Amino acid sequence: DVADLPGVPDWLPDHLREDGIEQLYPPQGEAVEAGVTEGQNIVAAIPTASGKTLVAELAMLSAVARGGKALYIVPLRALASEKQAEFEQFEQYGLSVGVSTGNYESDGGWLGDKDIVVATSEKVDSLVRNDAPWLEDLTCVVSDEVHLVDDGQRGPTLEVTLAKLRRLNPDLQTVALSATIGNAGELADWLDAELVDSDWRPIELQKGVHYGQALHLEDGSQHRLAVQNNEKPTAAIVRDTLQDDHDEDGEVTEEGGSTLVFVNSRRNAEAAAGRLGSTVRPHLSADEQAQLEGIAAEIRDVSDTETSDDLADAVEDGAAFHHAGLARGHRELVEQAFQDRLVKVVCATPTLAAGVNTPSRRVVVRDWRRYDGSAGGMAPLSVLEVHQMMGRAGRPGLDPYGEAVLVASSHDELDELFERYVWADPEPVRSKLAAEPALRTHILATVSSGFARSRTGLLEFLEQTLYASQTDESGRLERVVDDVLTYLERNGFLEVDGGELDATSLGHTVSRLYLDPMSAAEIVDGLEYWARHAGEPDTGDEPDGPEDATADGAFSTASELAEEAEASADVDPDDISALGLYHLVSRTPDMYQLYLRSGDREEYEMELYEREDELLGPTPSEFEDERFEDWLSALKTARLLEDWASEVDEETITERYGVGPGDVRGKVETAQWLLGAAESLAGEVDSDAARAISEARIRVEHGVREELVDLAGVRGVGRKRARRLFEAGIGDRAQLRDAAKPVVLAALRGRRKTAENVLENAGHRDPSMDGVEPDPDVEVSEE
Ligand code: ADP
Repeated sequence: DVADLPGVPDWLPDHLREDGIEQLYPPQGEAVEAGVTEGQNIVAAIPTASGKTLVAELAMLSAVARGGKALYIVPLRALASEKQAEFEQFEQYGLSVGVSTGNYESDGGWLGDKDIVVATSEKVDSLVRNDAPWLEDLTCVVSDEVHLVDDGQRGPTLEVTLAKLRRLNPDLQTVALSATIGNAGELADWLDAELVDSDWRPIELQKGVHYGQALHLEDGSQHRLAVQNNEKPTAAIVRDTLQDDHDEDGEVTEEGGSTLVFVNSRRNAEAAAGRLGSTVRPHLSADEQAQLEGIAAEIRDVSDTETSDDLADAVEDGAAFHHAGLARGHRELVEQAFQDRLVKVVCATPTLAAGVNTPSRRVVVRDWRRYDGSAGGMAPLSVLEVHQMMGRAGRPGLDPYGEAVLVASSHDELDELFERYVWADPEPVRSKLAAEPALRTHILATVSSGFARSRTGLLEFLEQTLYASQTDESGRLERVVDDVLTYLERNGFLEVDGGELDATSLGHTVSRLYLDPMSAAEIVDGLEYWARHAGEPDTGDEPDGPEDATADGAFSTASELAEEAEASADVDPDDISALGLYHLVSRTPDMYQLYLRSGDREEYEMELYEREDELLGPTPSEFEDERFEDWLSALKTARLLEDWASEVDEETITERYGVGPGDVRGKVETAQWLLGAAESLAGEVDSDAARAISEARIRVEHGVREELVDLAGVRGVGRKRARRLFEAGIGDRAQLRDAAKPVVLAALRGRRKTAENVLENAGHRDPSMDGVEPDPDVEVSEE
C-alpha cells in the first residue's frame, strides 16, 4: 500500500492516490523491499509499461527528502521533455526540476540549484568533461533504458558515464531501469545492485503472428479476420481493431481500439499511413472528423513542407506516421491525438518503441527486418526490440488485454516467427566499449578530465566498466587501450611519458568540445591543408603531394601547424568558401551524412569536379572506393547546408535531398556545433580561418546569405523576415534600430505585434506601432 512506503516524503502517498495509484505493482513492491527508497542500488528489469517510472520517482524523491540531489539519464532527447513534464508535477511540493540536453560545452551551472535534473547520457558525459561542480553533490542517479549499453553508438557513453559518476561519489545510489533482458544479473553485478527481474505486466499481453486471414496467438487460439476485397493483412487488422465487439444481445462489450504499426523505414511509415487512412476514414464520426481537421491545420502550421502536408492529409483520415524525421511539434501533435483516441492508427519506425508512452489496443510489427549498413543489407531485428514494440499493446484501464502480432507471408514464416520472436527470450546485453571509436573518445576524455593520469590508472578505471566485468579474455582490454593511446599520441592529443599520461592543450579542447578525436584530426588536417594551399593558383598538381598530408592518418602537431601558419601568414581568410567548411565538417565521423541514392553518384561527381578547389583536402582516388563514396556523401551533405545558408526554402531542400524537415534541422544543428568546434580548434592551432568559420557557422545557424548575418541575429527575425527587411532597405541591426516604423511594418507584411517585437529586440527607443499605418509606397515587392 502506498501508505507504507519507508523513506518517502510525507505528501507522496496522497499524491499517488490522486493519480489513481493505491497499491504498488508487484515489481515496484519488490524494488521497495530491496531498498530503493533507502539508498540501495537497484537494477530493475521489468517489461515496458509496467511502472518503471514510479520506481525511479521513489528513488529520487526519497533521495531529495534526505537532502540529496538526483539525476535522471534518458537515452533520447525526445524522452527528456517527456520526463521533465512528468517530474514537474512535483514542483507543487517545492521540488525543482531542470532539463539539459543540447549545448555540449557548458558546465550547466544553473542546474546546480535543481533537486532533479533530467539529461541525456551524452550531456552528462559532457558535464563530467567540463567539471560541472554540482555533479559531486549527486546522491542518486537513475539510468533509464540501461539495456542500451548494448548500442554500438551510444552504449559506451552511458557505460563510461555511469562509471565516472560512481567514482566521483562512491556513495551514489544507482538505479538502472531496463527492459526484460537475458542477463539482468550481470548488470546488477556490475553496478553492485540488488536485482528486481520480473515479467509481470499490468495488462495481459498475447503475442502472436498474423498469417492467412487470422491472428495465431501464443495461447494456441486463433482470431479470424473478416477480410474485405484483397485487403493487405495490416489493413485487415486495423479495421478489425476499430470494430466494437458485441455480445449475443447486440450490446457493445468492448469498444473499438487503436493500432500501432511498426515498419522499417520512414518512407514505409509514410506510405503505410497514407494507405491505412482509407481503412480508418469510414469509421470516423462527424465530430471526430472535425477535430482531426483542426489537428491537421495545426500540423500544417508547424512547417511548410511536403512531409507536413502528407502528415496532415493522413491525420484528416484518422491515421498518422511517426519517425525521427518529424519536427518536434509534429511528433507531439501525433502522440497527443493518438492518446486522445482521435488518430486510430500510427505507423512508426522503432524510435517510438524506445519509451514514448503511447499504448495501443493492438500492435502490428509489420517488418521484422531492416536495412543495416554494417551488415550490408537487411538484418533481422533483435528479440529485445521486437518485444519492446510488442509491449506497447494494451492500455491499462481501457483494454481487456493487448495483442501484438508479427506478419508472416508463408506457413514456413509463421513457424519461423514463432520460434524467432514469440517464444524466444531477449538476447543478453553486451558492452560495446571495446570498439575503437568509442575507446578513442572516452580514453581521451578520461585522461583529460583527470580521472586517470597514468596507463595503470586508466586500466584501473576501465576495470569498473561493464565491459571489464563481461570480458574473460585476459589482456584484450590492455591491447586495445594501447592501440588507442598510440593513436592519440601520434595525433597530438596526448603525451605519453613512460607510464604517465597527459592531455595536450589540443587534447583538452577536443575533449571539452565533445568531439570524436578523429573528427578533430580531420578538421585540423583540413585547416592545415588550407593554410598550405590558400591563395595558390590552381596548378592541378599538389606541390606537397597529397600523401604527405594524410600519410597513415597522421598530421602535424599543433606547434608544427602553427609554424606553418606563420610561414604563410598573409593568406586571405576570405578565400575559404563556406562550402569547403561545410564539406570539412560533413566528412567527420560526428556528422551523420546523407546517403547517395541511385543517380546521385554521377551528379555529385560532376559537382566535385566543378568545385574541387573549394574543398579543404585532397580528393581521394576513385579506386579507394569507400573513401571516395564518403567524400561524395559529405559533398551532398555540404550542398544541403549550403542551400540552407543561401536561403533556399525548406520545401525545396527536403525535395532536392529526399529528407524530412527534421533531418534538415538535425544537419543544421550538427553543422553549427561542429563549426563552433572548428572555430575553437582554429584558435588552438593558430589558424587564420576562425573568422571565415564563424561566418559560415552563423549563416548555417540562421539559414541566410552573408549580407543578412547581422540582421538575422536579432531575436524574432528569421531568415524570411531578414530578407524582407533587407529588401526594404534595412541592411543591418543598426539600421533596423533607426528605421522608420512604416517601413518596418510594411516589410513585415503589416503584422503589428511582430514589428513591435522586432523593433524592441533591435533596441528601438519606442517600438510601439500605435497610430502607424503601413505606407503603400514602401510596400515590399515579392520576387
Ligand atoms: P514504463 O516506464 O515501465 O514503460 P510507466 O512508468 O510509464 O511504464 O507506467 C505506465 C503507466 O502505469 C503509467 O500511466 C503509470 O501512471 C501507471 N502506473 C504505474 N504504477 C502504477 C500503480 N502502482 N498502479 C496503477 N497505475 C500505475
